Amino acid sequence: MNLEEILRRNIQSLKPYSSARDEYTGEAMVFLDANENPFNQPYNRYPDPLQRELKEKIAVMKGCNSSQIFLGNGSDEPIDLLFRAFCEPGIDNIVTIDPTYGMYQVAADINNVEVKKVKLKEDYSFSADELLAEVNEKTKLIFVCSPNNPTANLLDKKQMIQLIKGFSGLVVVDEAYIDFAPGASLLPEIEKYNNLVILQTFSKAWGMAGIRLGMAFATPEIIRILNKIKYPYNINILTQQKALELIGQEKQKDEWVEILIQERDKLVGKFQDFPFVVKVFPSDANFLLVKMYDARGIYDFLVEQGIIVRDRSKVVLCEHSLRITVGSPEENEILIEKLNDLI
Ligand SMILES: *Cc1c(COP(=O)(O)O)cnc(C)c1O
Repeated sequence: MNLEEILRRNIQSLKPYSSARDEYTGEAMVFLDANENPFNQPYNRYPDPLQRELKEKIAVMKGCNSSQIFLGNGSDEPIDLLFRAFCEPGIDNIVTIDPTYGMYQVAADINNVEVKKVKLKEDYSFSADELLAEVNEKTKLIFVCSPNNPTANLLDKKQMIQLIKGFSGLVVVDEAYIDFAPGASLLPEIEKYNNLVILQTFSKAWGMAGIRLGMAFATPEIIRILNKIKYPYNINILTQQKALELIGQEKQKDEWVEILIQERDKLVGKFQDFPFVVKVFPSDANFLLVKMYDARGIYDFLVEQGIIVRDRSKVVLCEHSLRITVGSPEENEILIEKLNDLI
């Protein structure tokens, strides 16, 4: 892949905003360069625009180099920035699977970029050849999501590699749920493929949806482009501090993941026994997609009981299905008790 060739011309020639913290990095006795208020430390200071300390820690944890990491205000930020860097509004297009995470379509719509969707197979697997068949000279990005939301399954690694090898634009693999599928991440492959972007997040396994921190992993060349067009101070001090603290507690995250996987598997067994359940789809994530005889009826009943799940029955290939997040053991017990009342 030739990155220059797929990059938008205006982004290539863009002169990015240069902040005080870009122009002088390092320690000093007195900082009088950013019109900050000297009082109310440490929140008076602008945050590190490149989040160097945090990236060093993430690099160690993920076994990559900090130059291969972009941090965003949730995964939503790198998703939007990829469109803005590579897709010419009204001209270029992207290819993705259907159904999948709704943000790719929304980001495409905001940027006036066409989305070519390829329906998954009945078993929710995908074919690299079918996606590649949709590619034309205006296709700049392919988005896949693994484990996929809302279908909950990991996508086949061989097919993904075939996709990456067969495409001359960027393949973006959204791994928001990868912690629930141990050993399956494609992150190490960024060493081999210069057109691969991996998205991960602190929102799910790490229990930090509220601090808004998403990660993109790719070649330093791609990361530099995202850095060039992001808001200068996109990750605030509170988020950077909390994330630094959290990364020191990776064991806690691993414990949560273990509990949630156990709970997920328990819920599968319970759901399969309900007479109103048609099918529980296999899950590699922290949620279950469950096909029911009367999905809307069950949804409404649960709302009345104060339990909110996601009705996905209008989504292609998810007819009659609810998406149910795995909660705490107590929450899951309440859910099962209430559903027991139905039989
Ligand atoms: C939840 C989710 C995310 C997380 O987005 P953030 O902006 O990082 O909170 C990303 N991708 C998918 C597919 C998700 O389901």
